Amino acid sequence: MALIVQKYGGTSVGTVERIEAVAEKVKGFRERGDDVVVVVSAMSGETNRLIGLAQEIQSPPTAREMDVLVSTGEQVTIALLCMALNKRGCPARSYTGSQVRILTDDAHTKARIRDIDDENIRRDLKAGRVVVVAGFQGVDEEGNITTLGRGGSDTTGVALAAALKADECQIYTDVDGVYTTDPRVVDSARRMDRITFEEMLEMASLGSKVLQIRAVEFAGKYKVPLRVLHSFQDGPGTLITIEDDSAVERPVISGIAFNRDEAKLTVLGVPDIPGVASRILGPVSEANVEVDMIVQNIGDDQTTDFTFTVHRNDYEKASEILQRVSAELGAKEVVGNNKIAKVSIVGVGMRSHAGVASKMFTALADDSINIQLISTSEIKISVIIAEKYLELAVRGLHSAFELDQADVVSEA
Ligand code: ASP
Ligand code: MG
Repeated sequence: MALIVQKYGGTSVGTVERIEAVAEKVKGFRERGDDVVVVVSAMSGETNRLIGLAQEIQSPPTAREMDVLVSTGEQVTIALLCMALNKRGCPARSYTGSQVRILTDDAHTKARIRDIDDENIRRDLKAGRVVVVAGFQGVDEEGNITTLGRGGSDTTGVALAAALKADECQIYTDVDGVYTTDPRVVDSARRMDRITFEEMLEMASLGSKVLQIRAVEFAGKYKVPLRVLHSFQDGPGTLITIEDDSAVERPVISGIAFNRDEAKLTVLGVPDIPGVASRILGPVSEANVEVDMIVQNIGDDQTTDFTFTVHRNDYEKASEILQRVSAELGAKEVVGNNKIAKVSIVGVGMRSHAGVASKMFTALADDSINIQLISTSEIKISVIIAEKYLELAVRGLHSAFELDQADVVSEA
């Protein structure tokens, strides 16, 4: 008998029929003897609908009232799911975030969880009930309703699993797991049986948006085993967990992430003296523009070129700032390109294998794809290429690293 926290996303509870199907599924777990805590999102589209209503009245809406409004979506689904469970002879009770007492800070619309009171939940579990908790919401010290940011129900699930020391946190969604890359781009993309928290963070932050990034960080920090599964298709899903020493022959590369949302900016002919990097990036960060890759080469003739990437939406804003800064610094010119894409190979196996980068670059060269920028971390290598070659690059890398083959995991 296990204690499982299950989170069902918006599409999984998007209609009354689906809520009934979720209830059926939860009942199955109860009948096998598991204790179940369920976290639900709002019905799909509901949170957006509520945000739209607010914006018709006030823009931007008062943050405190926004949280009162959007938290209602999840309150609807907890009640409906409990009714569906109770009707099936499976006793269940619903809780809003404030009723559990999911205590958060007071940062409305992007609050962070501070503490969870598990008393009510444990009492209900002991009494044989399923506990259904509204995702995405909490309450601050003063009793104000707060919400955790878009996609925050994942974080509620993980935080509850951590607080209850659950055996597993299962995230039910509309895909059957985490894939080696986007199956819409590569037909032979494969569902991974397991992936580490670190790899998942790199995959998620690079655009494989199966899970809210904060939820993965949280799960990694508290070592909560996390499993992504399809709500209505049977299967093992993908387990996201700590690095497994028993699997000595892990594949070197686990997956390929990519991102079309970037743009590249270069200041040419920057004086090669202390302080220029900070004078270039200072105003960019003051304008709240997030910078991703940064590349500066060694200058030869007392000048150097300084390149970085930003989100494509921030391209114009960053260009304007750079024009100004470049004039102040006496740099030569600012050039940019927003038709670029980033492709990254990710894998903890990289740590113990040489030649991964050269293999990547050879695969790209074989397809005559020019690399514009390169950056690396311990478990990731990213390149910037022309956007039009993105799909070709991802396909080429996927086969070069044999990601379409079954896992070569040998259990020691
Ligand atoms: N309902 C919220 C949203 O749409 C939270 C969630 O679904 O995770 O962002
Ligand atoms: Mg979600």
